[in-house]
Amino acid sequence: MDLVGIAPIERYQHAPPRVHPAAHLPGARTVISLAIRYPDALFVHAGCGLAESIFGIERYQNLVIGRRLQAATLRLTRLLEDHGHATIPMPVSGKWRVHAYKDIPTDWCADFSHRHAAVAAGLGEFGLHALVITPQFGMRQRFVSIITAAPLDPDPLYAGPPLCDHCLRCVKDCPVQAFDARRSALESVTIGERTFLYAKVDHWRCAWSEQLNLIPEEGPACAGQTYGVLPPATGPVDEMVMLNTFYAKCHAAGLQAAMTHAMGNCMRVCIPPRLRGTQQALTHLCPKTTKRHTEPIPATPAPRPYHLVAS
Ligand code: SF4
Repeated sequence: MDLVGIAPIERYQHAPPRVHPAAHLPGARTVISLAIRYPDALFVHAGCGLAESIFGIERYQNLVIGRRLQAATLRLTRLLEDHGHATIPMPVSGKWRVHAYKDIPTDWCADFSHRHAAVAAGLGEFGLHALVITPQFGMRQRFVSIITAAPLDPDPLYAGPPLCDHCLRCVKDCPVQAFDARRSALESVTIGERTFLYAKVDHWRCAWSEQLNLIPEEGPACAGQTYGVLPPATGPVDEMVMLNTFYAKCHAAGLQAAMTHAMGNCMRVCIPPRLRGTQQALTHLCPKTTKRHTEPIPATPAPRPYHLVAS
């Protein structure tokens, strides 16, 4: 692991009950946060250069780094279990409850937040984009967490110089305008004795690109996908419009629609002040200017029936 931090359960006293570590493991006393950094050049050049390769970063993110993180959580879980402590390894993020669920009012909510665990474990702090910035690697790492009943010595919360200077690059370069960074809109979260502020994120807009890959410039263009539609400039994103646009994209892009990857500009353009000049910056975003379809979204083709054939 490149980063390891330990958060005592008391730092979660303000967490909503259903996403609290104890909601997963009654009797939880500690959360361990782990991270592996991305290879810097892989991160910087994803989608750029002559190769315009976008698949490498996706495979590393999910298969190589993601699996290695999960393998580490399994090893640590077994070790802690062997010492008599109930422990749950949380998988890397990638699945969400799309709609508010029971007493969770938030859309697009993971059942456990590795971001908040990393901050609680002292590995970094939130940037304006609501993602975690670390002093060592900025944005270029992936996190995972372990919840355990073991009482481990905690690490202090991050207390160094601010890691975000509100330069607004992430807000300005977001093609779907997912961030509301007005002072009056900022959201606050209290972890331990610190309160953090970050922009209000419209997760539907974010998913428009990140999960449904509807903005070619954030990655799919590098696989030859040209079908793109922007969400409405203001106001809420309508789920049915989103679904219809997604189906239209699948229709237009064919099988390629299932084999594309998007990587948010907010992750890619953010270099915290202390790493500017040392961490390699992007010279440009995804190089292709893609056609943007402005005509009405084509009707969704009628689904073809299929039959399960008993063997
Ligand atoms: S891009 Fe600038 S404003 Fe956004 S999180 Fe990074 S340092 Fe903060």
